[in-house]
Amino acid sequence: LMHLTRKLIEIRSMLLSIDQSDGLKLPSIVVIGSQSSGKSSVLEAIVGQEFLPKGNNMVTRRPIELTLVHTFSTDGKTPVEYGEFPALGLGKITDFAAIQRTLTDLNLAVPATDAVSPEPIDLRIYSPNVPDLTLIDLPGYIQLASLDQPESLKEKIAALCDKYIREPNIVLAVCAADVDLANSPALRASRKVDPLGLRTIGVITKMDLVPPEQGATILAGNRYPLHLGYVGVVTKAAKRSKKDSMAVTVSKGENDYFGAHKEEFGSSTSLMVGTDTLRRRLMEVLESSMASSLHGITNAVQLELEEATYQFKVQYNDQRITAESYVAETMDALKLRFKEFTQQFRRPVIREKLKGMLDDKVMDVLEQLYWLDKRAPELGNIAANPKLKPEEIEPYWRHKLDAASSLLTKSGIGRDSTLLVADGLRALIDSIAAGEPFTFHPRASERLIQFSHAILRDRIGVASDQVENCIKPFKYEIEVEDREWEVGRERAIDLFEKEVAMCETKLKDIRKKVGGSRRLGGLVNYVKSLEEKEREKKTKRLEGTPSEESPESTPESYRYPPAQILDARHAILYTDRLGILRLRLAALRSKRCRAGPQSDVFCPEAFLNVVADKLAYTSAMFISIELLDQFFYQFPREIDSRLLYDLDPKEIIEFARENPVVRRHLDLQGRKDKLEEVMKQLNSLSVLRADPQAAPRRH
Ligand code: GDP
Repeated sequence: LMHLTRKLIEIRSMLLSIDQSDGLKLPSIVVIGSQSSGKSSVLEAIVGQEFLPKGNNMVTRRPIELTLVHTFSTDGKTPVEYGEFPALGLGKITDFAAIQRTLTDLNLAVPATDAVSPEPIDLRIYSPNVPDLTLIDLPGYIQLASLDQPESLKEKIAALCDKYIREPNIVLAVCAADVDLANSPALRASRKVDPLGLRTIGVITKMDLVPPEQGATILAGNRYPLHLGYVGVVTKAAKRSKKDSMAVTVSKGENDYFGAHKEEFGSSTSLMVGTDTLRRRLMEVLESSMASSLHGITNAVQLELEEATYQFKVQYNDQRITAESYVAETMDALKLRFKEFTQQFRRPVIREKLKGMLDDKVMDVLEQLYWLDKRAPELGNIAANPKLKPEEIEPYWRHKLDAASSLLTKSGIGRDSTLLVADGLRALIDSIAAGEPFTFHPRASERLIQFSHAILRDRIGVASDQVENCIKPFKYEIEVEDREWEVGRERAIDLFEKEVAMCETKLKDIRKKVGGSRRLGGLVNYVKSLEEKEREKKTKRLEGTPSEESPESTPESYRYPPAQILDARHAILYTDRLGILRLRLAALRSKRCRAGPQSDVFCPEAFLNVVADKLAYTSAMFISIELLDQFFYQFPREIDSRLLYDLDPKEIIEFARENPVVRRHLDLQGRKDKLEEVMKQLNSLSVLRADPQAAPRRH
């Protein structure tokens, strides 16, 4: 049966990792007692090592789940004793003083305001000198909260102990012999949950502090009977000599004491005394408790397993996933998504975008140099005159055209076009980073944005310099072919027609707003007359004539609300703009303009459009090479190196679990796997139990 306990202890910790629900619990021994009752000394005597935190203020602040694993000697060699904190990953610790320090640190890490924490510390000790046992050490009961402890501490500790002394656990109630059992908080707590004492063992410490007869009376347990009985111990170390281990000195002191009082405690008395007896008793009790739990726990695990298997089938159709596969799939999907998006950045698309930007620039240049020029209508008239030869045109218009062309080519095309495309890329990445599944992975999303912006920052300077360099020739000379000219002319007509339509819409809107064309006409005339007066005033002032305010002019300005005056001003602007646009449209459609590139002076619009086309073509080409191709090459590689390979196994799991869908899948799958493993172990145990040769009962 030895073997059974050992296996069940293993199964118990597996079950603990599945969940904490009461149905799936195998018993453990829970050690409770008031402070200074000798609880630590008893635990250390059982283990045979000093490893618990000591000191005035050093009470246990967190439960310690202590698993003792008996190790066997192989080839006649005694195995090394060591401890392990599985949760901390510190490896095997052979120095028990180091274990003591670690426990002290873990205890001190509990904030003073909390004083105790319900979070258990998992500690395993492997030794040839320990039995297979699981013990849970709990904070000692306190009688009175001292000044520096919160008032609620007493209740907090009691509540924590209450949680652990529930079924199926065995309660080890530690009481000092020199304190009346009636005052023992441990016995009182256990009686509440186990009134018949069926799963409570009493340990009476400090037997040396009371007269032997009195000690014997306590152990007989007549006053507070416990079905599992009382064990008396003396765990105060005898005078310690250097060469002896702690275990040796303690048992020496104990043996000395009980040996000296054979009459009261000898074998004839049937009282249980000594740490060895306690150890054996604990093993027996845990064994039989585990054995009797076996059937129930097997059924419970079976039920849980069936439920988990069913859910796994129904919810996931038995599809298994791993955190790694999720991460890999996410990254592949990201790359694919990105690739699809890159279609928006093919060269013709980019060219169109850049052309759009340049069209706006062309319109700005035309407005600045032609539409606002009072002589602009002349140009139309010259173009309409078939007799006029190109060389007879005033140099004024030739200069205008050169100025317009250079204004366009020197407007910072390299920077503007590169930034336009880079902004498009940035918006694309931002939209990917803000979409699923990155909504679940804020840190990865942040990193994605960071590294893509970094690539862009790196490339923007190079790309815009390169574009600027390559359009340089256009700043000096532009050759236009007949075919190009015709395309440019038609596009210019298109743009002008759009502009005309836009102005007409605006005018219509204003007309509607002020209440019809008659009212707008009145308004416009009024504003014009105001402007006329302003002008007159100005000339008079310039000529030195003293201005006489006409008395009736003041009330005049109140005839219309200011907002309508503003509308009228806009209407005047749009009407003027429409006038010039219509003139230019007629010019663009004229025979003269259709004749070809030699008419560039008459038709600056067509010429500038050809220039814009050439600029767009060249810019698109070099932005593709210097910015897009580089970005498309680097981006998937950065995904690998910054998002994928950057994750260690722990981070991969964390990443996958950030997605709630994946987390639920992994949880259910993990639960099912663990339950299957536990079930397998339990089944192997029942074979063991069914075969009396394999597991002989010892009593
Ligand atoms: P805890 O606070 O319940 O963990 O109690 P400790 O194990 O720290 O013991 C409290 C005090 O009682 C310490 O000073 C121990 O030396 C002393 N003590 C423990 N066991 C015995 C014992 O069997 N006999 C005597 N005389 N003193 C003991």
